Amino acid sequence: MKALFLDAPGRLRLGEYEESASPDHLRLRVQAVTICGSDLHYYKEGAIGSSVAIQPHILGHEFSAIIDDERGAAFGFPMGTLVAVDPSEPCHHCEWCERGEYNLCPNVKFSGSAPIHGALREVFYARPESLFKLPAGFDSADAALLEPLGVAIHAIDLAKIRLGATVAVVGAGAIGLLLLQLARVVGASEVHALEPLAYRRELALRLGADSAHGTPQEVLSATSGRGVDVVLEATDSPSGPESACAVARIGGKVVLVGIPDGDQFTLTAAQVRRKGLTIKLSRRMGHVYPRAIQLLAQQRVDVKAIATHHFTLENAPQAFVLQAERGDGVIKSVVHLED
Ligand SMILES: [Zn+2]
Ligand SMILES: [Zn+2]
Repeated sequence: MKALFLDAPGRLRLGEYEESASPDHLRLRVQAVTICGSDLHYYKEGAIGSSVAIQPHILGHEFSAIIDDERGAAFGFPMGTLVAVDPSEPCHHCEWCERGEYNLCPNVKFSGSAPIHGALREVFYARPESLFKLPAGFDSADAALLEPLGVAIHAIDLAKIRLGATVAVVGAGAIGLLLLQLARVVGASEVHALEPLAYRRELALRLGADSAHGTPQEVLSATSGRGVDVVLEATDSPSGPESACAVARIGGKVVLVGIPDGDQFTLTAAQVRRKGLTIKLSRRMGHVYPRAIQLLAQQRVDVKAIATHHFTLENAPQAFVLQAERGDGVIKSVVHLED
Protein backbone atom coordinates (compact mmCIF):
# COMPACT_ATOMS: atom_id res chain seq x y z
CA MET A 1 0.00 0.00 0.00
CA LYS A 2 0.99 3.62 -0.39
CA ALA A 3 1.82 5.58 2.77
CA LEU A 4 3.17 9.01 3.63
CA PHE A 5 6.36 8.70 5.68
CA LEU A 6 7.96 11.36 7.86
CA ASP A 7 11.69 10.64 7.32
CA ALA A 8 12.98 13.57 9.36
CA PRO A 9 11.60 16.90 10.56
CA GLY A 10 10.23 18.73 7.51
CA ARG A 11 10.76 15.72 5.22
CA LEU A 12 7.74 13.75 4.03
CA ARG A 13 7.87 11.05 1.37
CA LEU A 14 5.28 8.89 -0.36
CA GLY A 15 6.41 5.26 -0.24
CA GLU A 16 5.34 1.64 0.02
CA TYR A 17 4.35 0.10 3.35
CA GLU A 18 3.24 -3.39 4.33
CA GLU A 19 1.56 -4.43 7.56
CA SER A 20 0.17 -7.86 8.27
CA ALA A 21 -3.34 -8.10 9.69
CA SER A 22 -3.70 -9.28 13.26
CA PRO A 23 -6.65 -11.62 13.89
CA ASP A 24 -8.56 -9.22 16.17
CA HIS A 25 -8.32 -6.25 13.79
CA LEU A 26 -10.52 -5.54 10.75
CA ARG A 27 -9.12 -4.35 7.44
CA LEU A 28 -10.20 -0.81 6.49
CA ARG A 29 -9.64 1.40 3.47
CA VAL A 30 -8.77 4.87 4.73
CA GLN A 31 -10.99 7.61 3.25
CA ALA A 32 -10.09 10.95 4.81
CA VAL A 33 -7.41 12.08 7.25
CA THR A 34 -7.36 15.58 8.71
CA ILE A 35 -4.09 17.18 9.77
CA CYS A 36 -3.80 18.11 13.43
CA GLY A 37 -1.58 20.51 15.36
CA SER A 38 0.03 17.47 17.00
CA ASP A 39 0.93 16.08 13.54
CA LEU A 40 2.60 19.43 12.89
CA HIS A 41 4.70 19.07 16.05
CA TYR A 42 6.07 15.78 14.72
CA TYR A 43 6.52 17.39 11.30
CA LYS A 44 8.36 20.44 12.64
CA GLU A 45 10.20 19.01 15.67
CA GLY A 46 10.21 15.24 15.04
CA ALA A 47 8.78 14.68 18.51
CA ILE A 48 6.24 15.72 21.11
CA GLY A 49 8.18 15.81 24.34
CA SER A 50 9.43 12.29 25.04
CA SER A 51 7.40 10.78 22.15
CA VAL A 52 10.06 10.78 19.45
CA ALA A 53 8.99 9.76 15.95
CA ILE A 54 10.68 6.62 14.67
CA GLN A 55 12.06 7.38 11.26
CA PRO A 56 10.29 6.82 9.06
CA HIS A 57 6.98 7.43 10.84
CA ILE A 58 3.41 7.52 9.49
CA LEU A 59 1.32 10.35 10.92
CA GLY A 60 -2.46 10.76 11.09
CA HIS A 61 -4.99 10.10 13.85
CA GLU A 62 -8.09 12.01 12.73
CA PHE A 63 -9.61 9.74 10.11
CA SER A 64 -12.46 7.83 8.57
CA ALA A 65 -12.46 4.58 6.64
CA ILE A 66 -14.58 2.05 4.78
CA ILE A 67 -14.90 -1.53 6.00
CA ASP A 68 -12.98 -3.84 3.67
CA ASP A 69 -13.33 -7.07 5.62
CA GLU A 70 -16.03 -9.77 5.42
CA ARG A 71 -15.64 -10.37 9.18
CA GLY A 72 -16.93 -6.83 9.85
CA ALA A 73 -20.57 -7.92 9.38
CA ALA A 74 -20.43 -10.00 12.57
CA PHE A 75 -19.71 -6.80 14.50
CA GLY A 76 -22.39 -4.76 12.74
CA PHE A 77 -20.05 -3.30 10.13
CA PRO A 78 -20.88 -4.82 6.72
CA MET A 79 -18.46 -4.41 3.80
CA GLY A 80 -18.45 -0.85 2.47
CA THR A 81 -19.71 0.83 5.67
CA LEU A 82 -18.19 4.28 6.31
CA VAL A 83 -16.91 4.51 9.88
CA ALA A 84 -15.10 6.96 12.12
CA VAL A 85 -12.08 5.36 13.77
CA ASP A 86 -11.10 6.18 17.34
CA PRO A 87 -7.28 6.34 17.13
CA SER A 88 -6.90 5.34 20.77
CA GLU A 89 -6.48 1.74 21.96
CA PRO A 90 -6.22 1.92 25.76
CA CYS A 91 -5.01 -1.20 27.62
CA HIS A 92 -8.25 -1.71 29.63
CA HIS A 93 -6.21 -3.19 32.51
CA CYS A 94 -4.38 -0.34 34.25
CA GLU A 95 -5.55 1.69 37.24
CA TRP A 96 -6.69 4.57 35.01
CA CYS A 97 -8.55 2.39 32.52
CA GLU A 98 -10.33 0.73 35.43
CA ARG A 99 -11.43 4.18 36.57
CA GLY A 100 -12.74 4.90 33.07
CA GLU A 101 -10.03 7.50 32.44
CA TYR A 102 -8.99 5.93 29.15
CA ASN A 103 -7.39 9.15 27.94
CA LEU A 104 -4.83 8.85 30.74
CA CYS A 105 -3.87 5.22 30.08
CA PRO A 106 -0.04 5.10 30.12
CA ASN A 107 -0.09 1.95 27.96
CA VAL A 108 -2.32 3.41 25.25
CA LYS A 109 -1.59 2.70 21.61
CA PHE A 110 -2.51 5.86 19.73
CA SER A 111 -2.39 5.86 15.94
CA GLY A 112 0.14 8.31 14.59
CA SER A 113 1.67 8.98 18.01
CA ALA A 114 5.19 7.54 18.04
CA PRO A 115 5.98 4.66 17.92
CA ILE A 116 2.53 3.64 16.54
CA HIS A 117 2.01 4.32 12.85
CA GLY A 118 -0.96 6.48 11.89
CA ALA A 119 -3.55 6.64 9.13
CA LEU A 120 -1.87 8.50 6.25
CA ARG A 121 -1.89 5.28 4.21
CA GLU A 122 -4.31 3.35 2.06
CA VAL A 123 -5.09 0.44 4.39
CA PHE A 124 -5.52 0.47 8.16
CA TYR A 125 -6.29 -2.31 10.65
CA ALA A 126 -8.47 -1.52 13.66
CA ARG A 127 -10.35 -3.33 16.39
CA PRO A 128 -14.15 -3.39 15.93
CA GLU A 129 -14.61 -1.55 19.26
CA SER A 130 -12.67 1.43 17.84
CA LEU A 131 -15.18 1.89 15.01
CA PHE A 132 -18.25 4.10 15.00
CA LYS A 133 -21.11 3.95 12.49
CA LEU A 134 -22.39 7.26 11.20
CA PRO A 135 -25.85 8.65 10.55
CA ALA A 136 -26.95 9.32 6.97
CA GLY A 137 -25.51 12.50 5.49
CA PHE A 138 -22.05 12.23 7.08
CA ASP A 139 -19.23 12.36 4.54
CA SER A 140 -15.73 11.03 5.05
CA ALA A 141 -14.33 14.43 6.11
CA ASP A 142 -17.12 14.94 8.69
CA ALA A 143 -16.27 11.51 10.09
CA ALA A 144 -12.56 12.36 10.37
CA LEU A 145 -13.36 15.65 12.13
CA LEU A 146 -15.18 13.80 14.92
CA GLU A 147 -11.77 13.24 16.53
CA PRO A 148 -10.87 16.93 17.03
CA LEU A 149 -14.52 17.55 17.96
CA GLY A 150 -14.11 14.86 20.62
CA VAL A 151 -10.99 16.59 21.94
CA ALA A 152 -12.99 19.81 22.24
CA ILE A 153 -15.87 18.02 23.99
CA HIS A 154 -13.47 16.54 26.54
CA ALA A 155 -12.04 20.01 27.29
CA ILE A 156 -15.56 21.44 27.68
CA ASP A 157 -16.36 18.59 30.11
CA LEU A 158 -13.32 19.54 32.19
CA ALA A 159 -14.25 23.24 32.09
CA LYS A 160 -17.71 22.60 33.62
CA ILE A 161 -19.01 25.88 32.20
CA ARG A 162 -21.99 27.15 34.22
CA LEU A 163 -25.05 28.52 32.43
CA GLY A 164 -24.46 32.17 31.66
CA ALA A 165 -20.72 32.04 32.33
CA THR A 166 -18.36 34.24 30.34
CA VAL A 167 -15.74 32.44 28.29
CA ALA A 168 -12.60 33.26 26.33
CA VAL A 169 -11.01 30.98 23.78
CA VAL A 170 -7.29 31.57 23.28
CA GLY A 171 -6.19 30.45 19.81
CA ALA A 172 -8.74 30.28 16.99
CA GLY A 173 -7.32 27.29 15.14
CA ALA A 174 -9.39 24.16 14.56
CA ILE A 175 -9.75 23.21 18.24
CA GLY A 176 -10.35 26.80 19.36
CA LEU A 177 -13.07 27.27 16.76
CA LEU A 178 -14.77 24.06 17.93
CA LEU A 179 -14.41 25.10 21.58
CA LEU A 180 -16.06 28.44 21.01
CA GLN A 181 -19.03 26.81 19.29
CA LEU A 182 -19.37 24.24 22.09
CA ALA A 183 -19.13 26.96 24.75
CA ARG A 184 -22.27 28.41 23.14
CA VAL A 185 -23.96 24.99 23.13
CA VAL A 186 -23.38 24.56 26.88
CA GLY A 187 -24.80 27.98 27.67
CA ALA A 188 -21.99 30.54 27.88
CA SER A 189 -23.41 34.07 27.82
CA GLU A 190 -20.36 35.68 26.18
CA VAL A 191 -17.56 34.12 24.17
CA HIS A 192 -14.44 36.14 23.34
CA ALA A 193 -11.69 34.97 21.01
CA LEU A 194 -8.04 35.87 21.47
CA GLU A 195 -6.05 35.19 18.32
CA PRO A 196 -3.14 37.03 16.66
CA LEU A 197 -4.11 36.21 13.04
CA ALA A 198 -6.81 38.44 11.51
CA TYR A 199 -8.32 35.77 9.24
CA ARG A 200 -8.80 33.48 12.21
CA ARG A 201 -10.43 36.26 14.23
CA GLU A 202 -12.88 36.77 11.35
CA LEU A 203 -13.75 33.09 11.29
CA ALA A 204 -14.20 33.11 15.08
CA LEU A 205 -16.75 35.91 14.72
CA ARG A 206 -18.51 34.03 11.92
CA LEU A 207 -18.75 30.91 14.10
CA GLY A 208 -20.32 32.73 17.01
CA ALA A 209 -17.72 34.63 19.03
CA ASP A 210 -19.10 37.91 20.43
CA SER A 211 -15.76 39.62 19.99
CA ALA A 212 -12.32 38.74 18.70
CA HIS A 213 -9.07 40.36 19.81
CA GLY A 214 -5.37 40.26 19.09
CA THR A 215 -4.04 40.86 22.61
CA PRO A 216 -4.98 39.86 26.18
CA GLN A 217 -5.30 43.57 27.05
CA GLU A 218 -8.12 43.94 24.49
CA VAL A 219 -10.00 41.01 26.01
CA LEU A 220 -9.67 42.59 29.45
CA SER A 221 -10.97 45.90 28.07
CA ALA A 222 -13.92 44.10 26.46
CA THR A 223 -14.80 42.71 29.91
CA SER A 224 -14.31 46.04 31.72
CA GLY A 225 -11.05 44.77 33.19
CA ARG A 226 -12.67 41.85 35.00
CA GLY A 227 -11.65 39.00 32.70
CA VAL A 228 -13.81 35.94 32.04
CA ASP A 229 -15.02 33.06 34.18
CA VAL A 230 -13.54 30.29 32.04
CA VAL A 231 -10.65 30.37 29.59
CA LEU A 232 -10.05 27.61 27.06
CA GLU A 233 -6.51 27.65 25.67
CA ALA A 234 -5.82 25.93 22.34
CA THR A 235 -2.63 27.38 20.90
CA ASP A 236 0.72 25.87 19.95
CA SER A 237 2.54 28.78 21.55
CA PRO A 238 4.67 28.63 24.72
CA SER A 239 3.02 31.96 25.67
CA GLY A 240 -0.55 30.71 25.14
CA PRO A 241 -1.05 29.57 28.77
CA GLU A 242 0.25 32.92 30.10
CA SER A 243 -2.19 34.81 27.84
CA ALA A 244 -4.98 32.51 28.96
CA CYS A 245 -4.27 33.22 32.64
CA ALA A 246 -4.07 36.95 31.90
CA VAL A 247 -7.68 37.05 30.66
CA ALA A 248 -9.15 34.87 33.44
CA ARG A 249 -11.03 36.66 36.20
CA ILE A 250 -9.99 36.46 39.85
CA GLY A 251 -10.94 32.96 41.00
CA GLY A 252 -11.51 31.87 37.40
CA LYS A 253 -10.73 28.64 35.61
CA VAL A 254 -8.29 27.92 32.79
CA VAL A 255 -8.26 24.72 30.74
CA LEU A 256 -5.09 24.13 28.70
CA VAL A 257 -5.70 22.08 25.56
CA GLY A 258 -2.85 23.20 23.29
CA ILE A 259 0.57 21.59 22.97
CA PRO A 260 3.29 24.28 23.04
CA ASP A 261 6.12 24.35 20.50
CA GLY A 262 9.28 23.19 22.26
CA ASP A 263 7.24 21.34 24.94
CA GLN A 264 7.62 24.14 27.52
CA PHE A 265 5.51 26.99 28.82
CA THR A 266 5.95 29.45 31.66
CA LEU A 267 3.43 31.19 33.92
CA THR A 268 3.96 34.33 35.95
CA ALA A 269 3.48 32.97 39.46
CA ALA A 270 2.15 36.21 40.96
CA GLN A 271 -0.57 36.43 38.32
CA VAL A 272 -1.89 32.91 38.69
CA ARG A 273 -1.40 32.83 42.48
CA ARG A 274 -3.01 36.14 43.31
CA LYS A 275 -5.99 35.40 41.15
CA GLY A 276 -6.30 31.97 42.77
CA LEU A 277 -6.84 30.37 39.38
CA THR A 278 -7.84 26.78 38.85
CA ILE A 279 -5.77 25.41 35.98
CA LYS A 280 -6.66 22.10 34.36
CA LEU A 281 -4.79 20.25 31.66
CA SER A 282 -6.81 18.47 29.04
CA ARG A 283 -5.39 15.26 27.58
CA ARG A 284 -6.97 13.87 24.39
CA MET A 285 -10.43 12.47 25.21
CA GLY A 286 -12.30 9.59 26.76
CA HIS A 287 -15.29 7.81 25.26
CA VAL A 288 -16.85 10.84 23.55
CA TYR A 289 -17.48 9.69 19.94
CA PRO A 290 -21.21 9.01 20.47
CA ARG A 291 -21.73 12.56 21.77
CA ALA A 292 -19.59 14.04 18.98
CA ILE A 293 -21.69 12.17 16.40
CA GLN A 294 -24.93 13.37 18.00
CA LEU A 295 -23.84 17.03 18.14
CA LEU A 296 -22.81 16.95 14.51
CA ALA A 297 -25.96 15.11 13.39
CA GLN A 298 -28.05 17.76 15.14
CA GLN A 299 -25.99 20.51 13.49
CA ARG A 300 -25.16 22.07 16.86
CA VAL A 301 -21.61 22.55 15.63
CA ASP A 302 -20.16 23.40 12.21
CA VAL A 303 -17.11 21.28 11.41
CA LYS A 304 -17.10 21.98 7.67
CA ALA A 305 -16.04 25.58 8.36
CA ILE A 306 -12.72 24.40 9.80
CA ALA A 307 -11.91 22.03 6.89
CA THR A 308 -10.57 24.78 4.66
CA HIS A 309 -8.20 22.89 2.33
CA HIS A 310 -8.29 19.56 0.52
CA PHE A 311 -5.45 17.34 -0.76
CA THR A 312 -4.76 13.88 -2.14
CA LEU A 313 -2.24 11.53 -0.48
CA GLU A 314 0.24 12.37 -3.26
CA ASN A 315 0.14 16.10 -2.54
CA ALA A 316 -0.36 15.78 1.23
CA PRO A 317 3.17 17.12 1.94
CA GLN A 318 1.87 20.49 0.71
CA ALA A 319 -0.82 20.35 3.40
CA PHE A 320 1.88 20.20 6.08
CA VAL A 321 3.80 23.12 4.57
CA LEU A 322 0.60 25.16 4.31
CA GLN A 323 -0.44 24.44 7.89
CA ALA A 324 3.02 25.00 9.33
CA GLU A 325 3.17 28.41 7.59
CA ARG A 326 -0.50 29.18 8.32
CA GLY A 327 -0.77 30.13 4.64
CA ASP A 328 -3.80 30.90 2.46
CA GLY A 329 -6.28 31.26 5.29
CA VAL A 330 -5.81 27.64 6.38
CA ILE A 331 -7.43 26.18 9.47
CA LYS A 332 -7.32 22.45 8.76
CA SER A 333 -6.44 20.32 5.74
CA VAL A 334 -8.26 17.17 4.71
CA VAL A 335 -6.29 14.47 2.90
CA HIS A 336 -8.65 12.40 0.73
CA LEU A 337 -7.42 8.91 -0.10
CA GLU A 338 -10.33 7.88 -2.33
CA ASP A 339 -12.99 9.62 -4.48
ZN1 LIG B 1 -5.69 15.72 16.62
ZN1 LIG C 1 -4.84 1.44 30.56
